[in-house]
Amino acid sequence: MTKQITGVMMYYYYVCKRKLWYFYNCVQMERGNENVEIGKLLDENSYMREEKHINIGNVINIDFLRSRGILHEVKKSNNIEEASVWQVKYYLYYLKNHGVEMKAKIDYPLLKQTLEVELEPGDVSVIENDLGNIMEIVKNPIPPILKQSRICKKCAYYDLCFI
Ligand code: SF4
Repeated sequence: MTKQITGVMMYYYYVCKRKLWYFYNCVQMERGNENVEIGKLLDENSYMREEKHINIGNVINIDFLRSRGILHEVKKSNNIEEASVWQVKYYLYYLKNHGVEMKAKIDYPLLKQTLEVELEPGDVSVIENDLGNIMEIVKNPIPPILKQSRICKKCAYYDLCFI
């Protein structure tokens, strides 16, 4: 059965394509977050409160909404990663396709920095191209070739790759 491509999968696509394959085909993180329908996002009142861990359609998982039209993603890493930017752009793309136009901020508490993210001209074609590539990778019967990187030691799939 074909699963929806989630924000996490988009993140893994940029971080490690093998990790993406494992995540899609083997192990799913447990979902304990509140499910919120798109309609709720459109409700003006929902923008007035800070909502934590908002799951929309099991595709995107927003950390919180602080003010109208701005979603926040919190990253604990101590560097700004391209993968996080595309994860958040994918959220914006998904929401736009459901009639909700938003901007985003990625908060890096360790860096004490905030990065503003918008869906810019050209991003849609990049994301749609990425989605095609992701489907090709995850539908392959075997994972992509192992490419060791600095993140491997902390990766949940380390044992699958190296032991
Ligand atoms: S251990 Fe390394 S190569 Fe294997 S899935 Fe994780 S990040 Fe990718």
